[in-house]
Amino acid sequence: PAGQVLTADNVEQFTSSMPLCMRQIHAGLKADHHLKYQARLQYGFFLRGAQMSLEDALLFFQRHFTKVTNEKFQKEYAYNIRHMYGKEGGTKDGRKEGQLGYGCSKIIGGLVAPSSANEHHGCPFKHYDEQNLHRLLQKLNIGDEKDRREILQQKKMQQYQLACLKHFEVTHPNAFSSDVPMDNVGNHPNAWFQASVTYQN
Ligand code: SF4
Repeated sequence: PAGQVLTADNVEQFTSSMPLCMRQIHAGLKADHHLKYQARLQYGFFLRGAQMSLEDALLFFQRHFTKVTNEKFQKEYAYNIRHMYGKEGGTKDGRKEGQLGYGCSKIIGGLVAPSSANEHHGCPFKHYDEQNLHRLLQKLNIGDEKDRREILQQKKMQQYQLACLKHFEVTHPNAFSSDVPMDNVGNHPNAWFQASVTYQN
């Protein structure tokens, strides 16, 4: 339903309703049992935008950060997560960002690009090379080969957000002619998610 609330327990079952950027961060988190700072912010704001409570966000990250002790988690990460929820310090801009989350233009152009294999933030349409993006689309069974070529073509033309919109289109047939709220799909990861969840229901 619209206004889907994510919890520490149900994230996994909603990953296929996430845009590629968030899906890849989630996969990275599961593979590494850790997320670096930028990905933590990008994903944490997204989860907050999908109405995950602060308590659940703390639980969710701690469950996945299996390599750190409780003490280290509390000391190094909990503050940072509370901060994302506007509970600790921070600037007014920071709080505003937390409420709105990162939009696509910020993720695509406003973050330092990921530069190593264990940096999972960013936008796959922008930050992956063509070959890796193609491989990922195939692996996730996104569209048929013609659809994938169209997505790659958008990427080539640096139309990353249109590539993302196309991803939505091919995985949610007829969404445009339904009453799914498509307004910000391709502009904001939370809009993509919300539209997908609405569509599935
Ligand atoms: Fe995420 Fe936006 Fe890139 Fe889509 S266009 S993958 S929502 S950053």
